[in-house]
Amino acid sequence: MKAAVWHGYKDVRIEDRPVPEPKAGQVRIKVDYAGICGTDRHEYVGPNFIPVTKPHRLTGRTAPLIIGHEFSGRIDAVGEGVSGWEPGQRVTANGSLTCGECELCRSGRYNICKKLGFVGVGDDGCFAEYLVVGADKLFAIPDEVTQKEAAVAEPLACGIHATNLIGDLGGVKGKLAVIVGPGIIGIGAFYAAKLAGARKVLVIGRGEEKRAVIEKHGGEFLNTALLENGAADVPSYVEKWSDGALADVVYECAGTQQTLDLCVPIVKPGGILMVMGVFGQKPVIDMNTVQEAERIILTSQAHVNEIAEALEYIRKGEIDADELVTRVVTLDTLVEDGFEELERNSKNHIKVLIRISE
Ligand SMILES: [Zn+2]
Ligand SMILES: [Zn+2]
Repeated sequence: MKAAVWHGYKDVRIEDRPVPEPKAGQVRIKVDYAGICGTDRHEYVGPNFIPVTKPHRLTGRTAPLIIGHEFSGRIDAVGEGVSGWEPGQRVTANGSLTCGECELCRSGRYNICKKLGFVGVGDDGCFAEYLVVGADKLFAIPDEVTQKEAAVAEPLACGIHATNLIGDLGGVKGKLAVIVGPGIIGIGAFYAAKLAGARKVLVIGRGEEKRAVIEKHGGEFLNTALLENGAADVPSYVEKWSDGALADVVYECAGTQQTLDLCVPIVKPGGILMVMGVFGQKPVIDMNTVQEAERIILTSQAHVNEIAEALEYIRKGEIDADELVTRVVTLDTLVEDGFEELERNSKNHIKVLIRISE
């Protein structure tokens, strides 16, 4: 089968690989669409999480391996002991690799399993004609949702998971929410906050295409590229926007020192900073500003079963997944039209999909 294999820094090769066989408890999926995630981009110019010398703690794998973890496809073969799933069914999956035995897995919080890994990072992933995943991580795609739309459900689930975690601290209903970083994770957080009943949602970042999506769906957008003094103007903007109150909840969805510094002072006293970004560099956080007003820092890691919620929002038309796809490439054009295009021009893209089979 054709597959995109990660070998090293800016070294992703399209190679012929054997079709994988599903083990007990697994299914093999013929991939229709796969999505390029921020994580994949970090690996492209990485390595970031892909094990190069030390074998992965759960799978024992090291590079080279097939990248990618966001996809939609059809079940092609079913391993021993799998029930309730059959060949031909349209599915997507949570690409996490988990031990299934630790206290966290047993309590349902498998997204923070002590041995957590992901397909495409700790084992072969979905930028290929076929991949295998555990049947326990599958989600059936509803009839009304297309394969293309379903490929976007995984990143949207991250914002839903983060919002569900905030639910344990009173939620966002009736609150003022600010999202910093309007990539697909930030747009997922925007939708999740809005659909959970936030009173107003402001998204801060760059990119006029992103502004169009946010404004079309009832949010407000602050394009920092158009601010005269850049980040320095953001706190006064948020202060005015919130009638002096500042934000009840700020979602950090970019993962840089600059965006983290921007987030902390716009959280109101007693409010919540939800950190979702993956940081390329170890950040410094202004703890005095956090502590002087009892600001709360929460973090969110991927998602558990929120892909089901994302698919349901898409099915009901509450999330328009199609318009988030800004480009479709193939495995053959992935490097130049996908990864390199995103290096040059990420602010103008929301989700780049790879069309593999459909
Ligand atoms: Zn992803
Ligand atoms: Zn575990």
